[in-house]
Formats: sequence, structure tokens, C-alpha cells
Amino acid sequence: MRADDARLFDVLQTRWGYTSFRPLQHEAIAAILGKQDSVVVLPTGGGKSLCYQLPAVLMPGLAVVVSPLISLMKDQVDALTEIGIPAAAVHSALLPSEKQRIAEDIRAARLKLLYVAPERLVTERMLTFLRQQTVSFIAIDEAHCISAWGHDFRPEYRRMGELREQFPGVGVHAFTATATERVRQDIAGQLHLQSAEFHVGSFDRPNLHYRVERRSDKDQQIRDVLQRHAGDAGIIYCISRKEVDALAEALQSAGVKAVPYHAGLPDEVRHRNQDAFLNEQADVVVATVAFGMGIDKSNVRFVVHTGAPKSLEHYQQETGRAGRDGLDSECCLLYGGNDFQIWRKMMQELTGDAAAHADHNLQLMERYCIATGCRHRALVEHFGQSYPGESCAACDVCLNEQEYVPDALIVAQKILSCVVRVRESFGAEYVALVLSGSRDQRILDNGHDQLSTYGLLKEHGKSAIREWIEQLCAQDHLAREGEYRILKIAPAGRDVLRGATTPRLLKPAAKKQSRPAPAKKNFTLGMDAGLFEVLRKLRRELAEERGVPPFVVFGDVTLQDLASRRPTSPAGFRETHGVGDQKARQYAEAFTQAIARYCASNGIPADVAVADDAPPTAGLESFSTTSKSAARQAAAALFREGRSLEDVMQQIGRARSTVTQYLVEFLSEEGHLSPEPWLSEERFVAVAAAVEVLGPGPLKPIFDRLGGAVSYDDIRVAVACLRNRSESGVGASGG
Ligand code: ADP
Repeated sequence: MRADDARLFDVLQTRWGYTSFRPLQHEAIAAILGKQDSVVVLPTGGGKSLCYQLPAVLMPGLAVVVSPLISLMKDQVDALTEIGIPAAAVHSALLPSEKQRIAEDIRAARLKLLYVAPERLVTERMLTFLRQQTVSFIAIDEAHCISAWGHDFRPEYRRMGELREQFPGVGVHAFTATATERVRQDIAGQLHLQSAEFHVGSFDRPNLHYRVERRSDKDQQIRDVLQRHAGDAGIIYCISRKEVDALAEALQSAGVKAVPYHAGLPDEVRHRNQDAFLNEQADVVVATVAFGMGIDKSNVRFVVHTGAPKSLEHYQQETGRAGRDGLDSECCLLYGGNDFQIWRKMMQELTGDAAAHADHNLQLMERYCIATGCRHRALVEHFGQSYPGESCAACDVCLNEQEYVPDALIVAQKILSCVVRVRESFGAEYVALVLSGSRDQRILDNGHDQLSTYGLLKEHGKSAIREWIEQLCAQDHLAREGEYRILKIAPAGRDVLRGATTPRLLKPAAKKQSRPAPAKKNFTLGMDAGLFEVLRKLRRELAEERGVPPFVVFGDVTLQDLASRRPTSPAGFRETHGVGDQKARQYAEAFTQAIARYCASNGIPADVAVADDAPPTAGLESFSTTSKSAARQAAAALFREGRSLEDVMQQIGRARSTVTQYLVEFLSEEGHLSPEPWLSEERFVAVAAAVEVLGPGPLKPIFDRLGGAVSYDDIRVAVACLRNRSESGVGASGG
């Protein structure tokens, strides 16, 4: 490791409590330190903030961060303050005296980062002031807002093109989560960046589980999602304000802690509701697209769309708000044909290029909804990247949650031959009418009721046929041409006609069985769920005391790590993921005491060693897709073969503590009465004797009674079998 790198890692560890960089963070930081203009594109949750916060600490002077929203600035300033990095934000909500104090702090070089909105930055007053200071670099967050090609163009971003000239020698760095190649180039051009470095990360978000369902029984479909995520934080996006109000009310009456959010609500209500969500007083926010920009709450566990968004960029950004902490989260999209009509109506005022662009985006969104290929792949490819691997194991398609038409080839051939019979001269609606045997006057006038394909798919009804046509278009078997979107047979469609390829067609919505997918709880194995809840409550209380959102105190990943390792000493606490020096000082006492109390009263071991374990976020850092439940299952299969603990550790690449936990679960689930071959008879008998006297409660007394001769892990394995014995009425000595 070079000396410079050692310094980076040192700051990463002492300030943030992280042990490694996420993909491209290191490169992005190097560009800033090297004063090389750059465009950094990382998905939401990819860790963009660290890319500019860390070099701001290392470089002399003040880093200026352009950010469009006050809430975002505030959260970031709070988070930086929590880890002892002096930062401030100037915005309209400040009192003149507060602005004055910030200016003084800047003049006295007491601040490392200054957050400012674009329109404020480019005022003559601000520019003049900043030119008199030592500016280390300028970072522009949400940089896609500068591009009219992006989905969120903000004219006030345009003037930032002046910065490059105004601050010669100061690096300008653009950050965004959403950028097509065109937007990326546009960002660099608009900002007048000089020989900019481009760092473009993978757009895939492996921890997001995408599900796309036709809307059949919306209320039930939403209930299904909520059931899978009781008590979790989630966002439900609706297209209209009216729908937001109605749904929020319905959820509240059903006992869900939900709040509405849309631009039609008074400012004060909107802020209150947003704060309730951020501060964990409300679990669910029901909102229009007006909600979310600048929300960096890291533990949003689900995002539901009750209707299709107007572009994949919006979809990516909105779903992206789930799982920023890297833990598994669900994104469920409910769509229906009229969503697209609603959007088209709303976009009627657009003209020329803008109208064509909007319509194209809508078509791509529609295609995504009805597509029958992997969702992760579709999204990644949309953003111009290729998707490695065959199956993502995290979408409705790859997990076979969709129901397909069994005789899809025949159905598709009937549709395609109807397109041929009408001489490739009509649109989807007309073809569907012919196939459904409609008595529409146009069909009769054209004599198309005489075609051999007339009424050929009558039993399925027009709307199903219409959807299949869309699916055939999405799979490139059919193409559309011209203003009237006339259907043509595409080259791949000829293969279908010849029977050489079978397309995938989804079963019509009404016939699909409502089948709530299994709940997927997000717990690190070895983690004590009860302790996690205790720590979550403590986090909420401490956050309230300090006037910051809970996720600013600690993310869920940190709480999971604490609930797994259960440190009771300051040194153990400092080892926790996401705990740097300042947070260790600040919070060690409160958390270690709570952990010690919980462990003692629940009889679970504290200070569990995981030195040889992958940290709970190792998977996140590498964005690995290996699921924990897969590891658990693999372990169970190996235990069934009688493989040793060490063997299993090696095979599945998990630590002793984790594998022991898998073993305990395996023994309990399969009702094993004897812990052999994983624990010797002699030790088992010793533990059994201690349990006989002390009961199977807290493990510490057992551990002490055995004089420390049997490890906590071994005691847990023994106790699992003793429990099985008492449940099956077998004595400790019997087998
Ligand atoms: P983005 O702005 O790209 O959406 P954030 O900067 O909000 O992402 O980071 C998302 C989450 O990842 C935050 O909780 C942050 O603390 C965490 N994070 C960032 N970098 C790292 C890292 N190197 N190691 C561990 N966690 C990280």
C-alpha cells in the first residue's frame, strides 16, 4: 500500500469506521485529490457522498458541495458533525445571524465542507466571497439536473457552467446516480470540465428484489407487500394526489403507520410527514413523485409503485431509494394499461423533441413492465451496461413468480399470422379486435371477419390478446412503424411463425392466482433479532435527543453488527462496522450497556468473536449477490452429510460463529437429539449436567459452572440438542 493510500484508509477507518472502499470510491477520491475534473456515476447507495467528503478532510481549504435540497444538505451536515468533520449548509431557512457565523467560520478556515444550493452558489455575492477563500474543490451532487436530456432537468443548474472559469485550478467534480452516455457527456460539456475522468459504476443493485405485477386487486397486492414488511420503512408511490390521499387514509384505518406526501399538501404538513418518516414515527409514506429527492434514509426496505412511472430513469431513481444500506429490499411495481394513457394525457402539452423523447421513455417503461426477461438485466442494459450471469435470483422472472401461458407458441403464431393476414397494415388494437372476433364496423367494412384468423383467440378476450401483442413487441417478434404504430413482423417473429422459437407470454392478470411471495427477513445470521429491536429503539431515543434522524446516528448495518457481535466493552464497540473514533466516544456507553443488559437477561453470549468472519457488510462492499439464506441452506446440506464445522466453514466461506449459528439452527430444525459429530459426548454430558442444575436459561452461568472449559459455541450446540430432547420427552442421558 502506498503512503497516500494508507492515509486514505486511516481516515476511512478512524472517521467513518469502514474498513474498505466500495467500487470506484477509491478512484473517485484519487481524481479529487489529483485535482482532475471528473464525472462519477454510481447507483443510489453506491456511496457517492464519501467520495467527496473524504478528500475534503484531507485537502487544505473548503470543499464546496452543490446540492439541490435543504433536507439532503442538513442530513449530510448532521452526519458529518456526528463523525467530527466540521461542515455547514447555507440555505434560505437560515437566520441572518447563522449565515454570518458560517461566513466567519469559513474565513477562519474552521470548516471543511460547505453545502449550498445551485442558485445560491452562482449569485455574484457568493462567488465573490468564495473566490477570496481557499476552495479545495467543487462537487456537484445530482449533476444530471444540468442536462436537458436527463429526467430531472433544473434550469438553475445551468449557470454552474461558469464555475470552471471562475475557479481556475480548482477541480470540479460531478456526481450522479442516473446517467445515460448522452447525459454523461452533456454533464461534462455543460460544466465545461477539462479532460474529465469518467468513473461509471455498475447500475445494478443486487440487493433490490424487483417484482412487477399486473394490477388486479391493488389493495390486496399492497397488503401482500406490507405483510412481508411489517414494521419496516417503505415508500408507496402513486401517480395522482387523489390516490395518495385515499390510500394513506385506508392504510391508517387498517392500522398501518402511514403518512401522505404530495405537492398539494400545505408545506407544514408535508414537512411534518416527511420528518415523521425519517424519524421512524411513521413506517410508510404514500407519495407522488414529489417525494424522495434528497431523502437519504438508508433503511427503506420496500418501494411500491401503484402505477407505472413515466420512464425507467424515474423508476430506477425511485426504486433506488430502497436499500441504500445494501441490505435486501423489495421493489414492487403494479401496472395496468391505462397508466400509460394517463401519462400520455399528462404529457399532451409537450411538443417537438420533448414530446417525442417523453413518449419514447414511456414506451420503454411499458416494455419493461410487460417484458418476460430478468429485471436486473433489463435495467442494467437500459443504462448501457451488460449484465453478467444468467439469473439474478432477485426478480419475479428469475424466481419464477410469473405465470406463463403454457401453449405460448401456438398463441403467438395465431397473433403473428393475423398480422400477416391484415397485410401488416394495422395497429395493435385492430389486430386484437380481429382475433377476438369483434363486430367492429371497420372490421366488417374491410371484410376482415372473413379471415381465417378472425375470432381465433376469442376465448381469451380482447384485453389479454392486446397484452400478448405488447409482449411480442417487447420481445422483438413484432415491430411498430410510423405514426399509427402499424404492426410488422420482425425477423425474430418469422422464427416464431416457423416454430423455431417460442416466446414467453404471461397469463392474463385476472386468471393469475394471488400468491404472496414468501417473506424475506433481512437478518444477518447469528444476529439476535430481539437485541436488534432494542438497539433500534435506543437509536431512535438518542437521535431524538440530538435532533437528528436515526439513520444519522447509525445505519441498520451497524445495528446488525452490534446485535451479532454483542460487544460490551468500548474496544469491542469501536470494532463495529460504521463506528469511527467520534461515534465510539459518543455512543459506546449507551450501546454497550444496553447490550450487556440484554445478553444477561436473555441468556445469550456477549462479546462473540467474529475475528475470522467476513464483516456483515462484506457482501455489500463487493456488491455480492450471494444470499445469506443460500449459505444457510448450503451449510444444512453439508451438516446432513455429517461434515465437520471446519469443513463447512471452508466450503461456504463463513466464519466459525456464523457456521455455529447455522449448526444450532440445523440441529433445532431437524430435531437432532445428539450433537455428535460436532461435539464430543464428554462435553455434551458436562453441559447437560450443568443445565440440569441451572436450567437452560442464560448461558453465562453454565459457562462459569464449567469453569470456562466449554466454549459458548459448544454450549449453544449442546443446549439446542437438550431442548430437542426435552421437547420430545427424552431425558438428557437418553439418546
Ligand atoms: P449515494 O449518495 O451514492 O446514494 P450514500 O453516500 O448515501 O450513497 O451512501 C450509502 C450508504 O453507504 C451510506 O449509509 C454510507 O454510509 C454507506 N457507505 C458509503 N461508503 C461506504 C464504505 N466504503 N463502506 C461501508 N459503507 C459505506
